Amino acid sequence: MQSVPELAALQKQLARIHECIALLNWDQLTYMPQGGAVHRADQVSTLAEIAHQLQAGDKMAQLLEQCEQETSGMEETSDTRRMLRLARRNYDRTAKLPAKLVADFTRHQSVSYQTWVRARETNNFQLFAPLLQKTIEYTHQMIQHLGSFEHPYDALLDLSEPGITHARLTELFSALKPALVNLVKKISLSSAANQSFPFLQGDFAVETQHKLTLEAVKEFGYDTSCGRQDLTVHPFCTTISRGDVRITTRFYNEWLTRGFYASLHEAGHALYEQGLPEKPIGSPLCNAASGGVHESQSRMWENLIGRSKPYAEHVLPLLRAYFPQSFQNISSSQLYQAVNLVTPSFIRVEADEVTYNLHIMLRVELECALLDGSLPAASLPEAWNNAMQSYLGIVPPSDTEGCLQDVHWSHGFGGFPSYTLGNIISCQLWQKMSEEMPTLNEDIEQGKFDHILHWLRTRVHCQGSRYFPEELMTHITGSTLNVQPLINYLQTKYTEIYQL
Ligand code: ZN
Repeated sequence: MQSVPELAALQKQLARIHECIALLNWDQLTYMPQGGAVHRADQVSTLAEIAHQLQAGDKMAQLLEQCEQETSGMEETSDTRRMLRLARRNYDRTAKLPAKLVADFTRHQSVSYQTWVRARETNNFQLFAPLLQKTIEYTHQMIQHLGSFEHPYDALLDLSEPGITHARLTELFSALKPALVNLVKKISLSSAANQSFPFLQGDFAVETQHKLTLEAVKEFGYDTSCGRQDLTVHPFCTTISRGDVRITTRFYNEWLTRGFYASLHEAGHALYEQGLPEKPIGSPLCNAASGGVHESQSRMWENLIGRSKPYAEHVLPLLRAYFPQSFQNISSSQLYQAVNLVTPSFIRVEADEVTYNLHIMLRVELECALLDGSLPAASLPEAWNNAMQSYLGIVPPSDTEGCLQDVHWSHGFGGFPSYTLGNIISCQLWQKMSEEMPTLNEDIEQGKFDHILHWLRTRVHCQGSRYFPEELMTHITGSTLNVQPLINYLQTKYTEIYQL
């Protein structure tokens, strides 16, 4: 069985290169002087090429085959067989795509991105439409190489959410959608709708926000001896190694909660990364289970904890300490209401917990239609506006605030489902955790987050990617993916807030 250690050594090399790429990217998005941009792009693409050669090379193919043969008698649930399941997926998805196609598509993505920026600035969708059409064509070509699928979207889902198909996603989303549309409608008709909370707007010094958020995420258990928080344009979390998981955020001087919740969100991602298995270094088993599972962790800390009533109690003294003039005369129930305001809005990244998933479902529906050919790229704005009307009852005044708002479609498709899957998973986990931890609310109110983190570490984080998302949910909660806990959570919470 000497092939398994040899494969592990190759995987470690590969992982180390990816970690170096992560560090270069982090630096580019935080501190790098502008003048470094051209060389940095070359540095990253040089490393990416080396990584690609290792990932899709003959040695990897040979070792994989040998390992699969040598371990064929083992239980499929053993660590080695689980690792091989992932290693095979990683190899196939890279090796099956012709290098020329990947290079052409990468070039196209860069042109498409630049055109999207201009189209968005000038509110000119037709400038972007031919590029989007080309992205659809490239996506089809790639899917053909990846295998045969019932629906083209299956191939894309398989990349980010292993085991989940278009049919399964449709099943989940169609159970969720009517409940959300109904809840949004009831809230908009309630007498408590259209409230405003001016104390969240004001003059919030950025350095003070930085200190406040660092204190808040450290309380959650984010270990700053193995991480740090810096400023960037679009907040993200990145892993340089298990001992170095960094978060970035963005603060707005006049708007406190946006930066605050962005930090809590990224800290949720970081807590997951800090809790993933450390060894064997570079094993695909040490990675996150999926984009959706990753998002479940960030959403849990940001929303289920960060926007809860006990957290409002807990965090108010902290807010008063950092910004006394804004929070001196505010009660925890005012704070709770203010951070849970529900309003149908045009922009996804600013959406509240209730409307957010509708923004996602709308995008998934449209990108599936673009891919199966039922929606030509040029007709996207009209389809977008119709969908906004039916999902949220509003129509954006421009494409900039409509179908041009997200960067995602300048790169490709299939990235959106993970956001809503994350919300579904977070509520399923939360339900299980609440059953097992009867003092959950008291703990949050007292700022004791160690039990919660311990629960997540021992149930979710330590598993790495040995389970696919649906398997992970079954393993932890006894049920496959289920939208009911999310529906129950939103209905209970907002029925009380809006006295429905
Ligand atoms: Zn996230």
